[in-house]
Formats: sequence, structure tokens, C-alpha cells
Amino acid sequence: MSASFRIQAAEAAQRISRRRMLAAGWGALGLLGCETRRETTTAFRVAGPSMAPTFWGPSVQFRCAACSITLRVDAEHWRAVQPSLNSSGNRAGSIPRCWHCGTPIHGESISVRSIAADVVIVRPSTAVLLRSQLAANETPVVVLKHGGKTHLKRVLAAPGQKVTSDDSGNLLVDGQLPSPSGLPRVPIDIDQRRTGIIASRWSCSDDSVWQRDANGNWNQVTDANVLSPDLVWLTYEHRNVYRGNVVSRVLDDCPANLGLDRRLHPVSRLGISIRLRVTNDAVESTGEASRPVGRQVRAVVWTDRGTRVISKQLPEPPSRGYEHVHFEPRVIQEGRPIEETGLDQAVAAFVSASSPVAIGWNPRSISTLSDLRLWRPVQWYVRSISSWTLADDEWFVVGDNAPVSIDSRDWGPVRTDQIIGVCDPIARDQPTDIGG
Ligand SMILES: [Zn+2]
Repeated sequence: MSASFRIQAAEAAQRISRRRMLAAGWGALGLLGCETRRETTTAFRVAGPSMAPTFWGPSVQFRCAACSITLRVDAEHWRAVQPSLNSSGNRAGSIPRCWHCGTPIHGESISVRSIAADVVIVRPSTAVLLRSQLAANETPVVVLKHGGKTHLKRVLAAPGQKVTSDDSGNLLVDGQLPSPSGLPRVPIDIDQRRTGIIASRWSCSDDSVWQRDANGNWNQVTDANVLSPDLVWLTYEHRNVYRGNVVSRVLDDCPANLGLDRRLHPVSRLGISIRLRVTNDAVESTGEASRPVGRQVRAVVWTDRGTRVISKQLPEPPSRGYEHVHFEPRVIQEGRPIEETGLDQAVAAFVSASSPVAIGWNPRSISTLSDLRLWRPVQWYVRSISSWTLADDEWFVVGDNAPVSIDSRDWGPVRTDQIIGVCDPIARDQPTDIGG
């Protein structure tokens, strides 16, 4: 009950009058928007976590004592979970835990830093402007009125579009999972932070060739030139930290929601990033001749539409330092089915819904992998089977914190005359890397 109250309270974005802004020392903000466009813009202070991690109301930040992940939590929610942080008699399921490693948070043993609410500058918008942004694969964030309150939401669909869901409950716009540009990245696994008693979720197909050191780096441990040319694979297995680390699908767990009761849904889109060091002089024998080794990194990824394979060519000649390799969710979805790639079918057996990623490379081509990260774009599901065909003046709006945001999935579409304006990108805080 209290969780739902908190969510409702979190919905309101509070309007600040210009006089109050100046009195409160917001003069610097005025230079961004209000001073230069005082006739047309309004400043709003964000309240609550429904747009996290893109925009935050007042929040607190601290580090997990076990895995050193930075945790950021809405301030009001943080106050509400205090009793369970400082008592030991809870049901196991209700103890607030680090989303990354599952270690219970103990309120007295951590140092908490308060962070002021984001302020957004909002300018009036028009249906034509919003439509053109959506047509450009952007999803503008708007301030709107609903139910006597002011809300900050992302516009996902425009008049004439159809919003439905698939069998898994994922929200679809015109039959497609929305994948606009500019969505925040939500962290899933930060391998380098799993050291000491926190076990890595990655495992190597050949421990005699590659091993993980105490700092979370994966290193080649034999002489490169005596290695077989077979690919080496690292495979990720996901775990549900709220259910005793049981093997699980990746869920839409937003790190902002520490200790909140909420339903989690499986996500179907992942992104991968890796830092690696390329070897400079390795060659492989091809009968009479020898040639430089193939400098490719492959990713085999389980998706709900079949296993996909993508690869990235490393720069030639290799740089002396580290290379960063990124596999974006959209690119993964458009990858080749495994049977078309010539890869051993056995590789496909490595991956599954709960073990969704394998990364492979020629062991002669790379000496170290580090900073292995899995992340996901924000993905929305609907809470009950529904279908909306948007009328001429109707828009579908959602919050980025999909598990707790109350929005068009609950209200239905909003009308054009409810939209006060669109958030000016120049005033938007940079999305915070809450996983780092
Ligand atoms: Zn942790």
C-alpha cells in the first residue's frame, strides 16, 4: 500500500515560479533558458523516480559495500525504506538489496550523499513539432497535466499510431518494439565490480587458455603462438539477486528502485561493451604461409526472435592501447541467424534465455579483456492486455522507470491540450551512469 502511495507522490513534477527560482539561487539556470527566452519557457523541478535514470527528483547516492556499485535512490523512497534498512527481523524478500550483487543494504554502515532534484526547461510545443521528432526516431520528453497534477513523461506514439502488446506483454508501437535513439542505458552486469566474494557471471570455454585475475580482468595465460586457432568463448549467465541468485532471464530491474515492491518483466534487448587489448605480432599458420590472425570479436546473443550472431572487426594495424568494442541492441536484433554464419552449432548451445550472451575471439589476437558490461535500453510492458488506436489529438506517454511509472499504460492516451511543453535538451542533465 505504501509503495503505491509513494509511486503516486512520485508522479508530480513541481512547477517553480520565477520569483521562487531566483530566491532559491537558481540564477545560473536562468542563463540557460529563462533569461533569454523568458516569454516562452518555464522551469520545472523534477519530483520522484518515474523518469529515472533520465531525470531525477531529490535523490541520495551511496556505494554498495560489497561490489562498490554506485546506487542512487529517490529521496522520498529512501526515507520510506529506512525502517527495513536498520532492522534485521524482516522477511527475506523485503530486505533492500543491491541490484547488482544482492548484498543487503545496511543503512547505518554507508555514507549517503544527497543530490538536488533535476530542473528542466520546458518550451511550448506543437503537434507538428512533436510528430516531426517522433518521425526522426526521437521520443521527446514533455511536461503534461493529468488528474490535477503535473507530470514529466516521454512521448512514445503519435496520433494515428496503434499501441498494442505482444504475447510477452511488451508494449509495441505499430507492431514494433519501440527503439528510439537517445534512450538511457540501464546497467545489468558490470563484471569488473565482481571481485572478492562476489563471483563473476562470465565463464570461459577453456580455462587453460584464459583466466580471470583478482581485479576482474580476463587474460591470456599461455604462449599465443602455441594456441589452437579455435575461438575462445566467454559466456554470461544471468542471476536473480532477489531470489537467492537463482539462474534467471534478464529482468527490467531499474537500479533506482531499491527495496520497492514491483513486478519485473523479462527484457528482450541487450547491449554489450568490452575493453580489450590486441596483440601486435601474432600470426597463424595456413599450411605453407602464415598470416596475421583474424582480429574479430563475435557475439552470439539469444533474442526472443532467435539466436543472432554479430561481429566487429578490430582496427588494423592494432593500436598500442585498449580498444573499446560495443554491440548495440538494435544491431544485435539485426544480426545473422547462427546457421548462416558458419560458426559451430555447438556455440548456439552456449546461449539460452537465461544465458543470453557469448563472446568469442581468436585467442592469438587479444591479450586482455576488461570492463565487460551488459546493459539494456529502457523497455516498456503493458500491465494488462490492451490496445489503443490514437485519435487525431491523442499521444501515448510513458515514464523511463517502466516498473514503477504510472502513465498512458494506466491512464490511456493524453490529449494535445494536456501537454504543456517539451523539455529543452540544452537544460537536460546528462543521463547519469548509475551503474558506474
Ligand atoms: Zn552490490
